[in-house]
Order: sequence, then structure tokens, then C-alpha cells
Amino acid sequence: YKTNKIKKKSNQLLQEKNSELIVEKEKTEKASQARSDFLSTVSHELRTPLNAINGITHLLLEEDPKKSQLHYLSSLKFSSNYLATFINEILEVNRIDSNKVEIEYINFNIKNLLEDIKNSLQEQAIKNNNNFSLTIDPKIPDNLIGDPTKLSQIFMNLINNALKFTKDGKVNVTAKLITGDTKTAKIWFDITDTGIGIPDDKQEIVFESFSQGSVAINRKYGGTGLGLTIVKKLIEILGGTIALKSKLGKGSTFTFGLDFIVDSNPVQITEKPAI
Ligand code: ADP
Repeated sequence: YKTNKIKKKSNQLLQEKNSELIVEKEKTEKASQARSDFLSTVSHELRTPLNAINGITHLLLEEDPKKSQLHYLSSLKFSSNYLATFINEILEVNRIDSNKVEIEYINFNIKNLLEDIKNSLQEQAIKNNNNFSLTIDPKIPDNLIGDPTKLSQIFMNLINNALKFTKDGKVNVTAKLITGDTKTAKIWFDITDTGIGIPDDKQEIVFESFSQGSVAINRKYGGTGLGLTIVKKLIEILGGTIALKSKLGKGSTFTFGLDFIVDSNPVQITEKPAI
């Protein structure tokens, strides 16, 4: 009788503990939802006046301003651009963290995607006097199915960083087929630069939100400290992982691998006849 009583009591205690845990979990979920809604509302509210500031600055710059005004307007343009990037990145992290980002499977060609990105960043490469090249494994199938929008976002962030933190050096993007058959392809991507490198004790934390090399580096190169956070989260959504190898003063390599479906029966887009 006594052991039965103890059993009953401990069951009751367990049940109480369980319902306490459920209430606690609901509270945490509500708090995180409230935080996410708050961030989203504030960011959207900030975006509207910022668009006006951006637009007016742009107009004033087009009106052939005096030299002294040009200086102030350029600084205004830089700051409002920075704020716009920052707000967009906060919105993006928030969207990812609240599971609002889904994979969109589309047919695409990795070679074309990387060449388009290279063209769009060529100006930046020239500005820093960098040799920017692509090495694409010819064995990679032409028609892959994946999420080219997220992939572009990942590459843009990583290559932008590589070009930004490298001067008079080399930036190379490699795409290598690791395993593949008629149905799937595993591809490894390397983004390598010969830039300033990342010290050993910072390599673990560069993927964390708002982490930057140092105050001095941040002052010199700018940036929000959210780019690599977004990159890591997007790669994880796509089912991959990212690794970093870097040596201070020598350069860095960011590596990630992803699986793709091979589209063995792509829809042929025939050109419309000229009328
Ligand atoms: P940011 O917007 O500041 O560039 P990121 O999240 O993209 O933010 O990067 C975080 C930090 O990691 C950077 O501030 C820089 O210190 C370091 N970092 C990122 N990529 C490189 C690179 N290719 N070479 C050297 N340092 C880098």
C-alpha cells in the first residue's frame, strides 16, 4: 500500500512538472513570436522614411551640387545605404529565425549563375585591383534543380567579403563535382582570397550575429556583421554546412557542400520567331 502511494505521488509530481514545462515552452514561443513581430514592424517602419532619404539624396546628387555640398551628400548617401543594408539584413535574419524562409526548387545552370555574379561584382574587383576568377568543373551537369536565389545570396555575400578584404590580390571561386550520377550531384564550393585573413581566435565567431574582426577592421572596411550569419543559416536550410580556413595576413577559404537534383529532362525553351 505504501509503495503504491509513493508511486501515485511521484506520478502526480511528474505530471505537474510536465505541465509546468509545457506552460514554460508556450511562454518562450510567445515571447519569441512577439520579439520577431516587433523586429519586423520596427524594420518595416524604418524602411519607409529611409527610402525617402535615399531618394532625395539621389536627386540632390544629380543636381550638380557645389563641392562642399557634394561632400555632405556623399556621406549622407553612404550612411543611408548602410542603414538600408542593415535593416534588410535584420529582416532576413528574422525571417529565417522564424522559419518563414522556404526552399524554392527551380531548374538552373551553375555556370551561368556564377558568371552572372562575376559580372555584377567585376567593378568591385577592379576597384581593389583584384584578379577575380572562376574554376568550374566541366563534369557538373548543365541542368540542376535547387534554389538559385538562395545560392546567389550566399555567393554574393562570400565573394563580396573576399573582394572587400583583399587588395592587389586574387579571389577565386571553385565549383567541384564530388559525387554524381544521372539523378543527384554533390558539389563543393570554395571561395578563396589572398586578403587580410582572420585570426585563429575569431574564426569560430565570425558566423555569429554582429561579430566583426575588430573595431579597427570594422572602421576601415565597414559592414554590418550579419552577412556570414545569413550565409550560414541559408546553407543550413539548403542542407549543407560551411567551414572556414584562414591565416592572418595570407588569406581565407570558405568551403561549403550542397546536394542538387539533376534535371535529366529539362524543358527546352525555344526562341520565339522574330516577327
Ligand atoms: P561584415 O558585414 O562586417 O563583413 P560578415 O558577417 O560578412 O560581416 O563578416 C564578419 C567578419 O568576418 C568581418 O567583419 C571580417 O572581420 C571577417 N571576414 C569575413 N570574410 C572575410 C574575408 N574573406 N577575409 C577576412 N575577413 C573576413
